[in-house]
Amino acid sequence: MAKELWISGQWMEAEGQHHYTVLNPATETALEEVADASPTDVDRAIHSAEEAFRSGVWSALPLSERSQRLENFAKLILQHSEELVHWESLQAGKTKKLVTYSDLPFAIDNLRFFASVSRVLEGAATGEYNGAHTSWIRRQPIGVVAGITPWNYPLLIGLWKIGPALAAGNTMVLKPAPETPLTTLILGPLAKEAGIPDGVLNIVTGRDGSVGHQLVVDPRVRMISFTGSTATGRVIMANAAPRVKRLHLELGGKAPAIVRADANISAAARGIAVGALVNTGQDCTAATRAYVHRRVWEPFLTALTERFKATRLGDPLEMSTDIGPLISAKQRDKVQRYVDEAVAMGATLVTGGHATSINDRGYYFEPTILTNVQQNWPVVQEEVFGPVLVVMPFDTDEEAITLANDVAYGLASSVWTESFSAATIFSKQLEFGEVWINDHLPLTSEMPHGGVKQSGYGQDLSLDALNDFTVVKHVMADTSGAAEKDWHFTVLGDPPND
Ligand code: NAP
Repeated sequence: MAKELWISGQWMEAEGQHHYTVLNPATETALEEVADASPTDVDRAIHSAEEAFRSGVWSALPLSERSQRLENFAKLILQHSEELVHWESLQAGKTKKLVTYSDLPFAIDNLRFFASVSRVLEGAATGEYNGAHTSWIRRQPIGVVAGITPWNYPLLIGLWKIGPALAAGNTMVLKPAPETPLTTLILGPLAKEAGIPDGVLNIVTGRDGSVGHQLVVDPRVRMISFTGSTATGRVIMANAAPRVKRLHLELGGKAPAIVRADANISAAARGIAVGALVNTGQDCTAATRAYVHRRVWEPFLTALTERFKATRLGDPLEMSTDIGPLISAKQRDKVQRYVDEAVAMGATLVTGGHATSINDRGYYFEPTILTNVQQNWPVVQEEVFGPVLVVMPFDTDEEAITLANDVAYGLASSVWTESFSAATIFSKQLEFGEVWINDHLPLTSEMPHGGVKQSGYGQDLSLDALNDFTVVKHVMADTSGAAEKDWHFTVLGDPPND
């Protein structure tokens, strides 16, 4: 039976019973039929979220209660781990070991983090800042928030949005990417079972930009939290502009990994291989450009090449598989185009470079290292989103920083060095929202994750994300009781000394 839309705490058929097919990228076979929402369906979901918000059924709950229900939700997700891991792995081609040991536990931890901090909305202390008034801050929910998610971390990023949005008292319409809606849909009934009232979390599926577009332009939706490509982010900005709609944009990346001459070379090679190949390179923070000091070029490249060659492509459901397929034939062909173009321009293929398959099936791509590339080439400047790493030499720290910063993106970066002083300088000068020292990839619920430059703005994770999903009001109350205030003359009357 086809998967329907989750609206007002129940399954609803799409108008006209329109569906589309979700494919398994490892086998190229059909996985499920999923509802293709019409404008009327999306309208229903927005209406449901708006009604739930206006009724106060969620925003007016005591914080202890809201927190408890989010905690219940996290527990139910944990209880359904097996099912969620299975479908996430099947629909996204993600390895079961990555989803089991990374995506799912991190998503649950994130939800638990927001369940707890929902009780601590912070701001400036109430005070008489100018002597004659008491000021305080009200941090309030925004209203209906739309979450629009990509296909590379459907479950994790969906929960990164649900956590802070609901913790802050908002209601939500969540739209997963058309390729990977299945695990997001599982969350609907779990939220209901956890005690999250009907209409607070609605999930609509669709494709071709139409559902997302409707959410962006509908005036009842007060905020768009979008994770996806910079190109779509630009379209969303333009479409949100007429209503000056609040945006939270987590966009593309092109992370550099800088290897200084004093680095632990085997640790750097291992860490950068992991950083480059995670999720088959379909990760906005993936290491995509290694800048390596000329003195350690040979040992680094040798160690890195060994790692890439040892990577096991295979069935994502096998725990021994290191990387699965790319998400689609379209994505595989795009990766191939970038590699072919670089080679045609004179790049050296150190490993990989070709699309491949397992038993003649699946959108697989060989782990690929390219050298002899130029900084201004597309493969260095643009998001390839596949298991492709370019490796380039540098001579000085200044040069490494200039090259690392010389892209439109600013999401994540890493520096590999044994020098604390150098690491500190790099962390200040790299223009990225995340700087790792001697590692690449780890995130934690307590600290923010977000970009600068064309990687977007707004934060996921941490109290910063909770704040992003609230509006701030300054309330200022007169404490003098005077009818005529000593500053009224600045508008009506004469200054005291005239
Ligand atoms: P995408 O093509 O931009 O799509 C993302 C979502 O936007 C999908 O749900 C898509 O669904 C929807 N969409 C497309 N056109 C839209 C429009 N006009 N208005 C509203 N929504 C629209 O991105 P993707 O290919 O799924 O994901 C990969 C990208 O995500 C990469 O660029 C990656 O770097 C980025 N990403 C960033 C982060 C981060 O934390 N910064 C994390 C993960 C991924 P429909 O196609 O149905 O419209």
